[in-house]
Amino acid sequence: MRPTGRLHLGHLVGALGNWVPLQDKYDCFYFVADWHALTSEYADTTRITGNVYDNVADWIGAGLDPEKSTFFVQSLVPEHAELYLLLSMVIAVPWLERVPTYKEQREALKDKDLSTIGFLGYPLLQTADVAMYDARFVPVGDDQVAHLELAREAVRRFNNFYGDVLVEPQPLLSSFPRLPGLEGDKKMSKSIGNTIHLSDTADEVRKKVMSMYTDPKRVRADIPGTVEGNPVFTYHDAFNPNTAEVDDLKARYRAGKVGDVEVKRKLADALNAHLDPIRERRAGVLAKPDRLKQILFDGSSRARRVAEETMTRVRDAVKISYK
Ligand code: AMP
Repeated sequence: MRPTGRLHLGHLVGALGNWVPLQDKYDCFYFVADWHALTSEYADTTRITGNVYDNVADWIGAGLDPEKSTFFVQSLVPEHAELYLLLSMVIAVPWLERVPTYKEQREALKDKDLSTIGFLGYPLLQTADVAMYDARFVPVGDDQVAHLELAREAVRRFNNFYGDVLVEPQPLLSSFPRLPGLEGDKKMSKSIGNTIHLSDTADEVRKKVMSMYTDPKRVRADIPGTVEGNPVFTYHDAFNPNTAEVDDLKARYRAGKVGDVEVKRKLADALNAHLDPIRERRAGVLAKPDRLKQILFDGSSRARRVAEETMTRVRDAVKISYK
């Protein structure tokens, strides 16, 4: 995850919610990609390290456990930069130029100059991040599938030159790939600002929910409404465990027998019930900043031991090793 801002409900359903159960099935490495944050935030780097700690507090709040998984910071494992450099020797620039997010993101972030080598190389740095740990699977949302495809091609080409040295990663797709934002049409995203943060207070959550878009054609509560594609109901489906209540609200909404206010109030209640334990754990973590730093330093040294082994193998394969 890139430390470019506070984490929101999209991160919870699209990433963290899937990462938590994986901890009991796999040897997981979760990292904060501070170098990746620089690809778009290089002009103002003041908030990156603060976001690192804040995001990891959210991870722990959401149930990730540094005792079960390795948490690390990308720049504390500088071997990533070395592997990226070696990969860059064999990967053609057009391979990176045709990754769909390259053009899309440059269009979307027009206020930033993204004509840099760093931004073009983003998916190749990701390839290094993943290949460093012989990762077989990467838990991603559908927006990352093209990057993983590039990673597989890059690994295959590298292995063609130097032998079977890196592992080809496969995606583990999240079950809820894209949560819409509060206005309903675009995905929830920190660059759009249509978010509910995991760190929002119960009051902030309530206010944001009350301002959400619903069915625009429904100007009065007694007009039958549409549930499909209505973000308030998408959120009910994602966060309200009381399916009987959700079914009842949907039936009454379709029949024009419930007002938006009641549907939203119940959503705010469900969201706050979901977020309360996350907020509590998050506050506990942030109250002990030294412990949080220690978690990241310990995890980064553990990651670094694996990275050093991988790089010894890679340098040997490339025949750039001096002993
Ligand atoms: P980012 O904030 O773009 O660095 O995203 C980090 C991770 O969260 C990626 O795996 C994304 O797929 C996931 N993610 C971000 N926003 C959403 C969203 N609105 N719905 C589902 N997943 C998301």
